[in-house]
Amino acid sequence: MAIIGVDLGTTNSLAAIYTPEGPVIIPNSFGDHLTPSVVSVADDGEILTGKIALERRFTAPTATASVFKRQMGTKKEYKLNGKTFLPEELSSLILKKLKEDAEIFLGEPVEEAVISCPAYFSEAQRRATKTAGELAGLRVERIISEPTAAAIAYGLHERRGAHKALVFDLGGGTFDVSILEFSNDIMEVRAVAGDNYLGGEDFDDVLIDLFMAANRLKESDLEERDDAAIYKAAEAAKLAFSNFRTVTMQAQVHGEPMTMGISLQDYETNCQALLARLKTPVVRALTDASVRVKDIGSVVLVGGATKLPIVRTFVGRLFGVIPSSTIHPDEAVALGAAIQAAMKERNEDVKEILLTDVCSYTLGVEIAHVRPSGLLQSGIYEPIIERNTTIPASHVDTFYTVHDNQKKVDVKVYQGESRNVRDNVFLGQVSIDVPSGPAGSESVDIRFTYDVNGILEVEVTSGSTGQVVRTVIEKNPGAMSPEQIEESLKALAGLKIHPRERDEYRFLLEKGERLYQESSGDMRDRISEAIGAFDEVLDRQNQEEIDEFAAKFREFLDAVENE
Ligand code: AMP
Repeated sequence: MAIIGVDLGTTNSLAAIYTPEGPVIIPNSFGDHLTPSVVSVADDGEILTGKIALERRFTAPTATASVFKRQMGTKKEYKLNGKTFLPEELSSLILKKLKEDAEIFLGEPVEEAVISCPAYFSEAQRRATKTAGELAGLRVERIISEPTAAAIAYGLHERRGAHKALVFDLGGGTFDVSILEFSNDIMEVRAVAGDNYLGGEDFDDVLIDLFMAANRLKESDLEERDDAAIYKAAEAAKLAFSNFRTVTMQAQVHGEPMTMGISLQDYETNCQALLARLKTPVVRALTDASVRVKDIGSVVLVGGATKLPIVRTFVGRLFGVIPSSTIHPDEAVALGAAIQAAMKERNEDVKEILLTDVCSYTLGVEIAHVRPSGLLQSGIYEPIIERNTTIPASHVDTFYTVHDNQKKVDVKVYQGESRNVRDNVFLGQVSIDVPSGPAGSESVDIRFTYDVNGILEVEVTSGSTGQVVRTVIEKNPGAMSPEQIEESLKALAGLKIHPRERDEYRFLLEKGERLYQESSGDMRDRISEAIGAFDEVLDRQNQEEIDEFAAKFREFLDAVENE
């Protein structure tokens, strides 16, 4: 049975499949490669996803959720039209849609996927990604980090000789830098660094701020609808910089058309702070990997925002090489995930390579230090597996009791880089009984085993009794328990999902609604009439008539949009 590769993106998601001709992107119900990672709940409770939901971000902002990948692994609740969702549930609705599109494309059921996630994703975020797959009815045995997938798509693993590459992945909301090393069929991630709060949207925000200032607008004066219109105009202006050196940003605010003209040069000047932020993780990854800029043989650009000319120039200047971008930067990760899926299936067309990855955060335990004064200081962090250690990894350290007559050792597990545990993320805890005795007389071995999917197993052994206590850290901040997953599966099964075969019509209606809200006067009347007429045609259920009218309606809406 086919295993699909999925890029579950912040802004857009894609699925791909390996074919005898190589990996190909699976088109969705619109024939598009990208499915916007947006979910909306209609007034009748129906679930709308992708492009249809994206239209509703403007017309029904409170019933529509986007950018939820940023909240993966947290307990943030989204209330959409009376229904409540966790981030992994929203992601599962996107995955369900991709699964359905893949099944139609392939003509067979799809029950397994290799899903990508940012290399920087923590334990809890990776687990949430797996849960999202499970909730969508997909088995997810392998989570692949996005840069690794992109490098595979570029065939970097097939190049002869040892070489190093840097993957520069700037998506909608996340930024990842990875340094990969290739030699003799081994592909090793040497270091990852990134910023979970930096992406293409920040480049939209620069335009939004300039637009607000140019039109003397204050955030507090804006309604949700104005916000959405300005946001949309900013993204359109940003995309236009791929083709023009000067761009005019236009949006309807308080019912009035407002504009701002800006040159690429001015835009670049205003993006300096963001470009500086891009440099930080690059430097950190190079330092962690002990690699110099001149040792980097190739630079691969991934993520929609690397299409921005400002970003390309910046990367070119930084590395003195022309970055590889022969594969569409939006598609590289999904294509790589599909190749990985084929490797997993042992597809004979695909050369098997050994993939190694690194752990993106340091993992450790809380300990107490004895100060020179003899006083105990608790809350100190002791790393067991260091950041950027190649995984799978298994490390063990020995610790001693700190109190006289101590009967129990509590092992508190944290993730992070700070010396004080309070500044790191608490992952969970396990306790072991020890025979009581003077402080320092009893020892415990703490072994951390971190697997390729970023799942952490903790094993504690008492030095004197040999008793072993093992745990897979379940209590991740925000992770769903098996019972919650069961409950969520039931709730999701009860949802009414918009039927795929009507996607196109629903999209046209939602787009019509948005254009109606954005327009005024005569144009509004014309749009309203067209929507009414299309509704009537749909009610008559004559497929030929529907197709004919839909084509005309689409043309009309495109003309309104481009006016
Ligand atoms: P991703 O999460 O990889 O899908 O990236 C989405 C981000 O890429 C969004 O912020 C888009 O606005 C941005 N993007 C897509 N196409 C372009 C383009 N031609 N120029 C600039 N940014 C783009």
